[in-house]
Amino acid sequence: MKLNIAHLYPDLLNLYGDRGNIQCFRKRLEWRGIECEVTQYLQGEEIDFSNIDIVLLGGGSDREQEIVCEELKKIKKGFQEYVADDGVVLAVCGGYQLLGKYYKTNTKKIEGLEILDIYTEWEPERLLRNIILESDLFATPVVGYENHGGRTYIGAHQPFGKVFYGLGNTGKGDYEGVVYKNVIATYLHGPLLPKNPHVCDYLLQKALCRKYGEDVTLAPLDDELEQKANHYIVARYSNKGNVLQETIKRHI
Ligand code: GLN
Repeated sequence: MKLNIAHLYPDLLNLYGDRGNIQCFRKRLEWRGIECEVTQYLQGEEIDFSNIDIVLLGGGSDREQEIVCEELKKIKKGFQEYVADDGVVLAVCGGYQLLGKYYKTNTKKIEGLEILDIYTEWEPERLLRNIILESDLFATPVVGYENHGGRTYIGAHQPFGKVFYGLGNTGKGDYEGVVYKNVIATYLHGPLLPKNPHVCDYLLQKALCRKYGEDVTLAPLDDELEQKANHYIVARYSNKGNVLQETIKRHI
């Protein structure tokens, strides 16, 4: 078995180590004896989605998102069809915002891919802190770090998780991210997957089943250390009170 992973615009969208998510995909496949090929797609390059099994769209500054927006117009149709065909996507922060209709910054309106029926609007108070989610998809909490000026309004979409600690989509501390078909879109940087191997395996499983049939199962790995780290973070933030009052005020 083999998975082809596409890392989109890593020269522009790679804030806070989003690239680590690729390493995690690669390593957890390698440990199971499953082949993996990672292709980086830079500005101006053509993308044939028919040969792709997983897409990573990372985060970026508003300026970088503006540049990427022009690239996305060229691949919009192919990307939309890939998602409609159950293609697996991990979109982080700026990448999450770009899956929606638009991201309105303080100076510009950046058009998105219109894959998700969501929109994002910038506010001067930046939302940055550790964040912990409880997701219906997993028994184990999802831990990470958020850092965004945008507030994302997800309408009727299913959120990725309920915020246990942190601020989330709109800064209200209620919900975070979106799950849609085989897409996980989230504000969690970190990078997300090395801290949350259960999320990594969920996406790998979806990609393998899409390619090789529903009966593909992933061999379990020894995640004792990752589990310990997860429990430590959850315990550390379990008694923090009302996090909304702790919001750090900072301007971009
Ligand atoms: N520029 C976007 C924002 O500030 C996304 C930031 C990011 O990807 N970390 O909301």
